[in-house]
Parts: sequence; structure tokens; C-alpha cells
Amino acid sequence: MKGVLATDRRGVRELGAEELVGWDEVTQGVVLNSFDIELENVAHIPPEERPYSDFNSYTATVASWRVIKPVYNRDICIDCQNCWVWCPDTSIISRDKQMLGIDYDHCKGCGVCVEVCPTNPKSLLMFAEAEDPEAALAKWPEKKKKEKK
Ligand code: SF4
Ligand code: SF4
Repeated sequence: MKGVLATDRRGVRELGAEELVGWDEVTQGVVLNSFDIELENVAHIPPEERPYSDFNSYTATVASWRVIKPVYNRDICIDCQNCWVWCPDTSIISRDKQMLGIDYDHCKGCGVCVEVCPTNPKSLLMFAEAEDPEAALAKWPEKKKKEKK
């Protein structure tokens, strides 16, 4: 697929690449392979080690759009995987059903992961993009007590 007139090394604009072709200049009818190896061999490779083709959106970062970001608190997390299931951008990093953190290259800061986190307090909270993670953890709220009826 390397010779196809298509967006060459899409997503590397922020790295300073020149003479890139826009999405509306892609030749109609072509198939853009997501990986440089056969698809059936990809599933067993961790996402960050997969041989992405130049056309895969994984090579694009949307981090510069974000104005708020989720911060993860390992001490409270129960590894329920809710955030991993619901994240619309596949930006929750999980291995063997253990939550490892957030892929900040692809997270767009939508806050869905925080909404679905069931712990008390939540194990993910939204903070300003510029917030230092350690400072965010120091501000974490206490467990809320149940209100007496
Ligand atoms: S803020 Fe949105 S995109 Fe980012 S990890 Fe959470 S659910 Fe995914
Ligand atoms: S939803 Fe919350 S408790 Fe569940 S894995 Fe994600 S961070 Fe951990």
C-alpha cells in the first residue's frame, strides 16, 4: 500500500512532516490497511507495540485538543474495567484486567471514564490539562459517607 496516493504518514503533522496529503485527496476506492502485517497476527500484540501502517489513526494524536484530562488514582481503583469498556477513544490502558493508566496521546478529555467509575471516591477525576498529576492526587476527595434517611 505504500505507493498509494493517500495521506502519507497521516498524523505526523505535529512532528513537522511536510507535503502531507489531506483526507479529501485520497484516491477513491483504495483500501487503507491499518497494520503492516496480516490482521490475524495483530490481536496478540499489545497496542503500543503493533506495527501500525501510516494510515492508522493510532499514529495521530488528539492530545492538543484537550483542555481537561482524567487523572488516575491507583489506590482506589478496583479494576472493574468500566472505564476501559466505555472510553470512546480506547484510551484506557489495561492488561490482564488490570487498569494501568491513560493513553494521553489519544484521550480527548471527554470525561466518560470518570462518569462510569463506580468507586467512592472515584478512581478517575478530571483536572485541568496543565495540572501536575502528583498535585491532582494530593487534592483527591475523601470517601463520601452515606446519608442517613
Ligand atoms: S476522558 Fe474520555 S477519551 Fe479520555 S480516557 Fe476518559 S473516556 Fe477515554
Ligand atoms: S472504572 Fe474506576 S474502578 Fe473501574 S477500572 Fe476504571 S478507574 Fe478502576
